[in-house]
Amino acid sequence: MNIRDIEARALDIPFRHHFKHHSADRSRTEALLVRTRTQNECVGFGEGCPREYVTNETLAGCLTFVEHHAADLAKSIHSTNDLDVWIDRHEHQINANPAAWCAIELSLLDAISKDLGQSIETTLGAPPLVGNFQYTAVLGDNSPSAFGQLVAQYAGLGFGDFKIKITGEAQNDNEKLSLVREAVPDARIRLDANNIWGTVEEVSTYLHSLSVAPFALEEPLQPRAFDELNRLLRITPVPIILDESFLNISHFGLIDTSQNNVIVNIRISKMGGLMRARSIARLLSDAGIPLIIGAQVGETSLLTRAGLCLANEFKECVIAQEGAFGTLLLETDVTNESLMFGSKGRLVCPGTGQDVTAHGFEIRYKSDLFGSDALLS
Ligand SMILES: [Mg+2]
Repeated sequence: MNIRDIEARALDIPFRHHFKHHSADRSRTEALLVRTRTQNECVGFGEGCPREYVTNETLAGCLTFVEHHAADLAKSIHSTNDLDVWIDRHEHQINANPAAWCAIELSLLDAISKDLGQSIETTLGAPPLVGNFQYTAVLGDNSPSAFGQLVAQYAGLGFGDFKIKITGEAQNDNEKLSLVREAVPDARIRLDANNIWGTVEEVSTYLHSLSVAPFALEEPLQPRAFDELNRLLRITPVPIILDESFLNISHFGLIDTSQNNVIVNIRISKMGGLMRARSIARLLSDAGIPLIIGAQVGETSLLTRAGLCLANEFKECVIAQEGAFGTLLLETDVTNESLMFGSKGRLVCPGTGQDVTAHGFEIRYKSDLFGSDALLS
């Protein structure tokens, strides 16, 4: 494959309703879309979601990163082997710009796969997608009435797995837990603190004040405060999910996994693309650590589709999937048909093996996607 050009634009899609948690409140996408065109007219797309409070990236910084590396990549990348070499040589730059790299890498994988007339899975040597994918109902920090409405909607759809973004105020959070329990009595509920507390003692006090023990607690402490985290892991009765504290492979060795109470939330954008996310998932699954295939709020069908590759390959250790809200959250999508969950939170495996616009991610992008000012700014 020979690349003609690689370009990036900001992806700007309004949400149908805003989504709030401890670290952010958003009402539109914050993402970049990268397009790779090959010499023989194949077009690949990739998406990345910079989050200042997760990876210290900004949209402007991502656009600069793509501009800086586009010409070198267009010259050096002809295959996934070249991509492997480039990733190895630029580990530190990717660690500092994971979302920007994610968008580039996905667009390259999409273009390479289309050039070869095959799916992303075939290109990566991953198993073909099969079966259905089970998603979690994720509840933001909404007002009590909006929260109640969302719970009723999810319960109506038949969801059994919930994640609640907490405030850290026990009374407020207990009310939310009760609302979910009332609507779905046997719900499995995990909580995401998005780095509310500074010490193990504060986390313990909070957990004791809850009316029900959650299935797991995500990111209670400050991001990557590994000493405090390991202190918590030695005493907590509740499994801890790592998200902001697990951004790349170097963090693995800093975490005490001896108590078997660690779960890792892998989000392709924060991990710096699908190939790095796969390596991390392999390492964690070999170590017997359960995985959640997570998402950034507002991901389009493109990152949802990339997540399926990972969830499918590591299904033995995946305990939950997040995202796939599609046009339930986004006013529009990059594809004509949104790839999203349906009844009971299940996403039915998209038609693999079909020649959906000549493979790659096997999704039908909107025509003239990159020229569309409706979606891009
Ligand atoms: Mg999280």
